[in-house]
Amino acid sequence: MPEMLIGGEWREATAHEELEVVNPATEEIVDSVPAASPEDVELAVATAKRAFAEWSRTDVEHRASILAKAADLIHERAKDLAARLTSEQGKPIAEAMGEVSHLAHGVRFYAEAATKVRGAYQELPSTLGPAYGMVIRRPMGVCAAITPYNFPLTLLGTKVAPALASGNTVVAKPAATTPLATLEVARLFSEAGVPDGVLNVVTGRGSRIGDGLVAHPDIRRVAFTGSTETGRRVAALAAPDLKRISLELGGSDPVIICADANVDAAVKAVIIGRYWNAGQACLGCKRVFVHESVYDEFVGSLVERVGRYEPGDGTTKAEKPKLRMGPIHTRAGRDELLEQVEDGIASGGELLIGGGTTDHRKGYFLEPAVIAEPSTESRLNREEVFGPVLPIFRFSDFEEAVRRANDTPYGLGSSIWTHDARLIHRAAQDIEAGMTWVNQIHYGYDELPFGGVKASGFGKEHGIEALDSYVEIKSVVVGGLA
Ligand code: NAP
Repeated sequence: MPEMLIGGEWREATAHEELEVVNPATEEIVDSVPAASPEDVELAVATAKRAFAEWSRTDVEHRASILAKAADLIHERAKDLAARLTSEQGKPIAEAMGEVSHLAHGVRFYAEAATKVRGAYQELPSTLGPAYGMVIRRPMGVCAAITPYNFPLTLLGTKVAPALASGNTVVAKPAATTPLATLEVARLFSEAGVPDGVLNVVTGRGSRIGDGLVAHPDIRRVAFTGSTETGRRVAALAAPDLKRISLELGGSDPVIICADANVDAAVKAVIIGRYWNAGQACLGCKRVFVHESVYDEFVGSLVERVGRYEPGDGTTKAEKPKLRMGPIHTRAGRDELLEQVEDGIASGGELLIGGGTTDHRKGYFLEPAVIAEPSTESRLNREEVFGPVLPIFRFSDFEEAVRRANDTPYGLGSSIWTHDARLIHRAAQDIEAGMTWVNQIHYGYDELPFGGVKASGFGKEHGIEALDSYVEIKSVVVGGLA
């Protein structure tokens, strides 16, 4: 059984309890991990606090070189990491390899960015004597990194890499159902030279240890990715101590396909955006609005391509031209999707393909679905749909499409398919979202700040900007110069 990492030691839970990890494709137990209790969280935070004193003073080039080494190791061990990820999360091996290489790329990005950060020098009025100002950046202290089950590794990297690059220490808590690959990645960070106590991983249920971790007085920064519901709780727990937080939450990204769109390219992008990771992505094409002039062409091509997917165990490949799609991560998640599909059909939507389960065999599989024109009040339009189910809507007027795109509590991503500069400008300005892609798939680039508005959260991950969210900016006035 893998143990958790606290202070450089691999440990059981203090209470000697365990948590079973289940493969969603087979429903078999893959492995067990320690089920941490609040005492373990105490220990991890205390260790990280002690380690901060030294790590925060290390040379930035040294920190950067350790991160670069970690990225190399992740790259070298990609196959093993991907196999572990598939076994606990369910995604096909090819998608797991994609996630591991995105992780390595993200860690390398911060290894390179760490040494490029600059402060500022400011001449000051000399009424009180000659002086100048400096703007410096100080690491914050111990950061909590809380990740969900859908992309356990990339979302770990987007927190741990900028935190460590900036001189902070970290206590990471992976989702209870996907701790295994995270522990392997933590092992590689240690192997790369991250000192004991600088990166700690506690495995356990959020319902048992989450509150204690977020509210711990020695946690100064909480980086949370997960559902909007849990995000609200995290925000409330962090508020009394005015902790720095970033909340990367749910989404219901709209896609607007205009009359002049390259329909073939749009179909391919929407397929990736909705059905990658069996649709369990925050950034996904979750509501598609298609201009009436290209609606039939778009829908026909989309349904044909969706029909190529074959849900199955991610460790096996589908026979060409079929494409493998993994399971839904939990039975409860699949049940919720089935209810949302049922509600969409009851509201007047037409099920064009999919929506069935494969109950004759083990695994939480769901046939990928497309539903035409459910009601705007249906759950498919109002809620986040966290699986391979796509509602499609027809529009005739662009302003109307933007209004409907914004008619959601969420505001994470969005995209538009057109070459009309005026429409691109309108989409960039008017769509309420943290990102708008133009003729592109919904993808979180390491180079660009990423994060939502409205119920999709606040704060940014990715990009050079994320480094600023792991430091306190301080002004220093230097006088006595005369
Ligand atoms: P979740 O249930 O909110 O869980 C996320 C993490 O929070 C898990 O590690 C969970 O632990 C932990 N947690 C639970 N209760 C907690 C508490 N009281 N205090 C602190 N942590 C607690 O989310 P999920 O269902 O795993 O993930 C899917 C959601 O994440 C979707 O809504 C998706 O859109 C969103 N997401 C957003 C982004 C983004 O960047 N915006 C990216 C990916 C996913 P347990 O697993 O032990 O419960």
